[in-house]
Amino acid sequence: MDKTIGIFGGGQLGRMMAQAALPLNIQCTFFEANADCPSVALGQVISPKAENGLNQFIQSADVFSLEFENTPLADVDVLTKQKELYPSRQALAIAQNRLLEKALFDELGIPVAPYKAVNSLESLEQAVTELGLPIVLKTTTGGYDGKGQFVLRSSNQMQQAWLELGPAGSLVAESFVNFSREVSIIAVRGKNGEVKTWSLAENHHHNGILSHSIVPAPKSLDLQPVAQDYITRLLNHLNYVGVLTLELFVTDKGLFANEMAPRVHNSGHWSIEGAVCSQFENHIRAVAGLPLGSTDVIRSSVMVNIIGQHPKTEDVLALNGAHLHLYNKAEREGRKIGHITLMPNDSIELTRLCRQLANILPQPLALTQDMNI
Ligand code: AMP
Repeated sequence: MDKTIGIFGGGQLGRMMAQAALPLNIQCTFFEANADCPSVALGQVISPKAENGLNQFIQSADVFSLEFENTPLADVDVLTKQKELYPSRQALAIAQNRLLEKALFDELGIPVAPYKAVNSLESLEQAVTELGLPIVLKTTTGGYDGKGQFVLRSSNQMQQAWLELGPAGSLVAESFVNFSREVSIIAVRGKNGEVKTWSLAENHHHNGILSHSIVPAPKSLDLQPVAQDYITRLLNHLNYVGVLTLELFVTDKGLFANEMAPRVHNSGHWSIEGAVCSQFENHIRAVAGLPLGSTDVIRSSVMVNIIGQHPKTEDVLALNGAHLHLYNKAEREGRKIGHITLMPNDSIELTRLCRQLANILPQPLALTQDMNI
């Protein structure tokens, strides 16, 4: 092996990073408490609970990255005294805190919904007065997949919202955005400052969890350069190395940033088959200091998450143009356990494939309604 990359986390994102690394003679190791995690088939898993675990992990690789956004900064501080981490501690710290993230968007001229910091019932009342209703109240740190959120539609919900989220300490109240669609832009920046961006993905959620992504996002030719500009501002400002994701709302006043993720992203899984170079391979290339690959789209695709329960492998593979990725995870309600990328020849075949897929997946899939491509 030419190089070893140590990854904080050992979930499916780590698994797919390591799958992309192997053909480049790059080995991955993982810092992860679950010995049976999705990445275990691809490299050594070192537990944070093991004696001297963090030090073992630091010694296990040449350079480091992450697939887990809530990687403890205390661990990162120990690591960065000895080895390099990409993306940087600064990028990670900002992405872990919604207030720091929004302040950075403001500083770089990236539009965000009006917001206020909230740390008491009084400051929540103040935010409601200033921002008006509805507002979305979110925990400043630790939220994911719509968890740690409360949508306030009437002022008599303030007590309840404060009771639910107040114990988290620091909150942020943001104006409710009347968006028509949610999209994400994913980009990679190399050590030499080169930036490459993939096509916008249009994202559809079910119960707060990503259900499927359509790429390129339909009717988005005018949005692509704007989103590209926003993410490039972030990448250059942070002197970022690796893959960064920016989630955006499409509104009649243009794009508004929701949040960024300092890592490869679920809405970029299509790129394994659908782009010349995937988000996983380009992330590995960037972290290893190698030239970046083309992010061009090979063919339009739809990525569907498998949530909670597995479909029959035979049924999925019988669909012409379907690529199945299973993460070796146990079935559990609301859990992402795999994904399927559909790469049909044209929109007629796409509609047919989506219908067939909806029939064989155990989960509900409102896919065919979205297929206005
Ligand atoms: P987040 O955890 O910030 O990604 O939010 C999860 C989901 O909640 C988003 O994908 C949106 O569907 C919705 N959401 C978040 N913030 C807002 C907002 N300010 N206005 C309307 N919907 C929102």
